[in-house]
Amino acid sequence: MYSFVHPWGVFQFVLQPGQKVKQIQQLAVSVVQQFLLTVENLRLREELRMQAVRDPLTGLYNRRYLEAALEREISRALRKDMMLGVIMLDIDHFKQFNDRYGHDVGDIVLRQIGLFLQSSVRSGDIVCRFGGEEFLVILPEIDLESAIQRAESLRLGVQTLNNKKHRLFPEQLSISLGVALCPLHGDSGHAVMQAADQAMYQAKREGRNRVKVFEA
Ligand code: GH3
Ligand code: MG
Ligand code: MG
Repeated sequence: MYSFVHPWGVFQFVLQPGQKVKQIQQLAVSVVQQFLLTVENLRLREELRMQAVRDPLTGLYNRRYLEAALEREISRALRKDMMLGVIMLDIDHFKQFNDRYGHDVGDIVLRQIGLFLQSSVRSGDIVCRFGGEEFLVILPEIDLESAIQRAESLRLGVQTLNNKKHRLFPEQLSISLGVALCPLHGDSGHAVMQAADQAMYQAKREGRNRVKVFEA
């Protein structure tokens, strides 16, 4: 048995007759080098995969991931004869907020709201940054009443983020939310997202800081 110590570890070999120690050492080092390169490649591939589906500001899933996930979750829910809920939500008067406090403070708010949404949902739920100051939550296997309750609790939660105790933002912020269910309000991912979006705009029209359910 022959052993040698290298910065990457201790190598042990059984030397065959005629084999040179130097050759074995070179072989061992190149095998380890190859192994480390493969590990690094896998790590990079995973990092790229994550970047492709995550929003860099909030770390939430992006729209690209959302569209695929929504179709998958809808098929799963329908197979089980269950409904799936979608909540579309948008920060109220966020342009004004940015104009007053600057884009960087706006970014902090987006991150805080993202963190809050992620920490408020159940493990099977999916939170995405839909774009800008809009977020979307997928609630698999839920009924209408529970989906409304969940939306209402998100609305209240965003207000609590800024109550006297937490005081995360320089001023009170609110969100408007639209709720739609599949297959009740739309039988595809696209249709149910549109329904939730329309409900959210209805919430804006009725004065913001409220939850609306899609009405045909
Ligand atoms: P409404 O209540 O009707 O939703 O009004 P609003 O001002 O929130 O809506 P509007 O669509 O007029 O403006 C959206 C604002 O969101 C403007 C834009 O600067 C801001 N915004 C979008 N993405 C980002 C971002 O990544 N960071 C920051 N800081 N602001 C963003
Ligand atoms: Mg807005
Ligand atoms: Mg918007």
